[in-house]
Amino acid sequence: MAASPRTSIGFEVLLSALKNEGDVESTLNILNVLDELLSAGTDRRIHYLISKGGSEALLSVLVNTGLSFCPNYTVLLPLLHLLAKVGHRDSRIGLKAEETGAVLLTLNLLKHNAKHVKMAAACLWVIEVFSSSVSAANVIGENHGLDVIFHLIPQYTTKNLHTIKAAINAFTALLCSKANVCSVISKGYISGLLHLYEDWHSKDTQHTAIEIRHMLLRCLHKVTHNNPGRQAFISKGGLRLLYHTTQTDLLIKGLESLIEPSVQLMRKCLPKTPLPLTSDQSAYTFLLPGRAHAVPDVDMAPDNSSEESDDDDADKQQAESKDYDDDLETDVNRLCLRPDLDRPIELLPQYGHLCPELSHDFKELNLSSEPEESSPSSDEEAVLLNTFSPHSTRMDRKKGDSNNELSTSSSGSQSETETSTKENTTGAAQLETPDVLCHSSILGCRTTVRELRVEATPGLKGNEQVEEQEGGEEFPHCTMIDMLLKRHGACIPHHEPQLYRAVATQTKSIPGFSILPFPDFWGHVPPARHEPMVPRKPNIQRQKVFEDVQRFLNTADIINQVVYDLEDSSFSLSLFVSLQCLSDSLRFFSNFECGNLRKAVHIRRYEYDLILNADANCSQHTQWFYFEVSNMVADVPYRFNVINCEKSNSQFNYGMQPVLYSVREALEGRPHWTRTGTEICYFRNHFCPAQGRRKTNFYTLTFTITFKHNEDVCYVAYHYPYTYSAMKAHLNVLQKSVDPAIVFFRQQILCSTLAGNLCPVVTITACPASRAWKDMHQLRNRPCIVLTSRVHPGESNASWVMKGTLEFLCSSDLVAQCLREAFVFKIIPMLNPDGVINGTNRCDLNSKDLNRQWCKPDPILSPTIYHTKGFLYYLNSIGRTPLVFCDYHGHSRKKNVFLYGCSVKETLWQSGSAVDTLGLKEDPGYRGLQTGTRELQEMGVKFCHSLLSVTKDMKALYDRRLSNHIGLDHNILDHKSHNFFEDDEPPCVEEIEYSTNCPTLKGTDLDSDINSNMAIEDEDEDGDGIGQRGAKQQQGSIGVLQQSNMKSCLFPDSIGQASIKTLIEKRNKCQGVSIVNGQITS
Ligand SMILES: [Zn+2]
Repeated sequence: MAASPRTSIGFEVLLSALKNEGDVESTLNILNVLDELLSAGTDRRIHYLISKGGSEALLSVLVNTGLSFCPNYTVLLPLLHLLAKVGHRDSRIGLKAEETGAVLLTLNLLKHNAKHVKMAAACLWVIEVFSSSVSAANVIGENHGLDVIFHLIPQYTTKNLHTIKAAINAFTALLCSKANVCSVISKGYISGLLHLYEDWHSKDTQHTAIEIRHMLLRCLHKVTHNNPGRQAFISKGGLRLLYHTTQTDLLIKGLESLIEPSVQLMRKCLPKTPLPLTSDQSAYTFLLPGRAHAVPDVDMAPDNSSEESDDDDADKQQAESKDYDDDLETDVNRLCLRPDLDRPIELLPQYGHLCPELSHDFKELNLSSEPEESSPSSDEEAVLLNTFSPHSTRMDRKKGDSNNELSTSSSGSQSETETSTKENTTGAAQLETPDVLCHSSILGCRTTVRELRVEATPGLKGNEQVEEQEGGEEFPHCTMIDMLLKRHGACIPHHEPQLYRAVATQTKSIPGFSILPFPDFWGHVPPARHEPMVPRKPNIQRQKVFEDVQRFLNTADIINQVVYDLEDSSFSLSLFVSLQCLSDSLRFFSNFECGNLRKAVHIRRYEYDLILNADANCSQHTQWFYFEVSNMVADVPYRFNVINCEKSNSQFNYGMQPVLYSVREALEGRPHWTRTGTEICYFRNHFCPAQGRRKTNFYTLTFTITFKHNEDVCYVAYHYPYTYSAMKAHLNVLQKSVDPAIVFFRQQILCSTLAGNLCPVVTITACPASRAWKDMHQLRNRPCIVLTSRVHPGESNASWVMKGTLEFLCSSDLVAQCLREAFVFKIIPMLNPDGVINGTNRCDLNSKDLNRQWCKPDPILSPTIYHTKGFLYYLNSIGRTPLVFCDYHGHSRKKNVFLYGCSVKETLWQSGSAVDTLGLKEDPGYRGLQTGTRELQEMGVKFCHSLLSVTKDMKALYDRRLSNHIGLDHNILDHKSHNFFEDDEPPCVEEIEYSTNCPTLKGTDLDSDINSNMAIEDEDEDGDGIGQRGAKQQQGSIGVLQQSNMKSCLFPDSIGQASIKTLIEKRNKCQGVSIVNGQITS
């Protein structure tokens, strides 16, 4: 289509004729032919012309004609039109124009023809096109081009719209240069632009000049690219003006194209506001072993670039997003080929004890009628098990006692472990084991829950009885908790509140938590129904931006009162209650395991800003939240804004809701975390770090909750919490649940963490059928499968999946039995206990992402990674390299369940075997749902099912024993999966970033403007019918815009027709070129 050989020859012929031609008529003819050709073809034809020097040819004609003593406007006008059309597609037109001297020439032509609307428009288009080069734009700016052009933009009028549009666009185009933007700001043109916008807005009552209003907004976008521009915009009342114009525009249909750029402009110009914190550093600091002081994280370089533009921001944003896709290693160069051992081989045998199934003699198989005595002996598990509370149920106590006895009998190995634990954790000394109050005692302290309590336990009065602390001795009488449990105790599978409390007393946190969050104590069962994604209401973000803008405009409405501060002791529990009881504001609390809320600020009557705590010892990674809220009024929508999120996008923009747990609901028999919240959206906000030292963008997650009950106590979280204490309690419950004659279940300690918490490793496999050599041999040759999770504390979903896996592997399900008989499972359910406990999102107390420590883990600073890796080395060294190693994670911006495989390249290299090339697979089964804990646990089960396919030996076993088992058909081994990248998230319905450029208006382009410039019948130009066409062209009369659909109208019709005729007649003169159907033939 573009350039047949004949066309190409034709172009070259025409171009050379154009350069050489002297007389006006021939030049006009050639210009007309070129325009016809270019209009008939596609852009590719124009690009071809450009490649053949078309731009240079046109520029040289322009310069030759324009420099003549008396410029010939008959030639200049069509020439400028064609130049604009061609230059628009030539990315180097500005440079070429500078080289030929056409830039200043065009500006001078404009100055001389400012009152001649057609010539002025033509010059303006050409200037717009030249401004694709910053240096050309600078030349125009330095020669007062901005002033000339700005004064061509009048107050509201119905005349000359054509030229006015050209002027605004040229002015906007010139703002590609920083110098021009600065000059515009210093000359006060922002105020002028705002006045123009206001004038056009108020007088364009018929909305016939929407395009011009849009162009003015686009221009305002450009001048607010830097800080001085944004400041000028604010100080000249831009925010108020746009807010009000937008409110009236919203009432009228068809003004959508003005609303969106206005909203983006307001968001962009909202003044940067430091977070109301004294320091960006986490409220939690932890003294690392070997360090005299807590060391702040390194990312504290001063931010000198106050002149940053949004373009820079956009670049940075990309870099940030890239950094953040942490769970997918995409850089092949960073993958290493079969790494060498990172430690002396002599250190490996220490992990031998983590394979108890290899040394265990299974003597108890002969005593299987007495399972109580079958518990294992020489293990650290006793340390884990002796956390049983003496006042738990009778059965528990019996178990606990027996375990205590065991721990006594095996005290040698236990104390050994404790010693090594202490050696590893010099930092642990500063943490004291907290006196853990059950959360119900908090409830008792508060007016709100006093009612609950009274309701629940009519016999009790006052608070004293519930503030009993956990001691070592037997409880003399029924506690508050016991009463509550007795009366309301939901039967939650694999959860025992008393056991949870007992375990939690051993959990070591930086602040020394003494309160249990009620949901973790009481337990959670998933609600009966599935929870689908919530369809997003249209324009919700826009509405929120308006509300945020109002905060600046109506400052009198703002309460701005801190109602919770993690660092301020006056908000600590006892004082907190008395201080706050008088206030009718919501009360917040987060000083408990996994809690994360640093500060809450009451903004407007039913609106609160929430600030999250950065990861310990660090000033970043705010995303996870979990807090208690109380003192609410029922049926009132409260707006919450989490204002310092860091990730650039979130599933909260795509139908996900936060989760809520109501104590009152729980006590009424519905102990559910449920998805909650309306008007949810996630967008970049105007906050910046408190000390302004880091160049960080923050994002707001906003949601609205309408509480069901008055004065309830509720918990709100990013996702279903799963605490370290819950994990430990769960393992203990599981251990009690299995039949030790059938399931070999061992809890051991991998190592102690920095804060002195124990990191459990669990072994699950089947007990041998007998102690016969054959059975024992089979046991000791079972391949290992190693599963880990929760290296990232914010990914609590991984723990729920792991919970599903653990429960399934301990169950009597046939598949589970098969798996236990086929494999030895080594499970480390929580690789980052300290992070989880202290409510961090990404890191350990060391402020390091543990998942980035695998290459060279430090034994002191990253003990869980160091020892997990050591254990894997050990398995490898005894010829038991795991058949499967899987680390469970969550992902904040992807839906559903998926597997990231290893690098194919690396796997092939290291294993020397052929593997599938499928990297990432998705099971689409959960599409459209918000995953609940039921689904998460089910994923853990399904993952186990899929392990059946790992071994060939299993196939036979599977076929023989499981063919009739429900749900176990070939679907499990062979379920349909999707290439994950096929259908990624659709674009967000609303722009979540500031647009770097104003959204474009549909149906406007330079070509049609240029065409219509000539299509206007001269007689209509100003209605007063002065003179002849030629005369009018040179007098610069006023025209009324009429849109034209003509494809090619560079020339007035009459000239066009005539010139083609002439050209064809003069075919020979043009060296045998003719036009057939828009194609040149020669
Ligand atoms: Zn992760």
